Amino acid sequence: MIKIGTYSYDEYIQLVKSFHGNMAPGLIIGGFMVDLAMKNLPPGEFYDAICETAVCLPDSVQLLTPCTTGNGWLKVLEFGRFALTLYEKYGGEGVRVYLDTEKLEKWPEIKSWFFKLKPKKEQNLQAILDQIKEAGAAIMTLQKVRVDPKTLHRPKLGKVAVCPGCGEAYPVRDGERCRACRGETPYL
Ligand code: ZN
Repeated sequence: MIKIGTYSYDEYIQLVKSFHGNMAPGLIIGGFMVDLAMKNLPPGEFYDAICETAVCLPDSVQLLTPCTTGNGWLKVLEFGRFALTLYEKYGGEGVRVYLDTEKLEKWPEIKSWFFKLKPKKEQNLQAILDQIKEAGAAIMTLQKVRVDPKTLHRPKLGKVAVCPGCGEAYPVRDGERCRACRGETPYL
């Protein structure tokens, strides 16, 4: 039976649907990637995660490991590379798994989905998913890596004050006003 983490393949599909909202091929590949990384963890008790893209992979990590962006154990680097790393949080020994484009040659549906070779309406989602399920870890490569945990340290919030612009609390290290009041607000 195909397993993804501690789940059966079908259980994982159900999780993806309820958590992510739809059946994204990237989340299924991501599930196999997390599974491969977890099977190859170096010794240690506590692991942090890195995703090198904000697309799909962070959800796979959050579904299958205790690492979330909220608890700070998952860092998302917006490199746009379909790769993730699990590493021992103190020493930094880790394993990195990436989608290996050379290995995609044998899996034309996955390749055409990944490189967006066909317009979305011409894609056959079921055929893509079937190949992903069949391929499993065969489309990825695992590397041993060493992470410098210092580079990924989340800065402490530090001193907090009330912003004179909006009246909300914000970290003093950001300056006289909060970042939103200094022009970074997304709201019109
Ligand atoms: Zn403000």
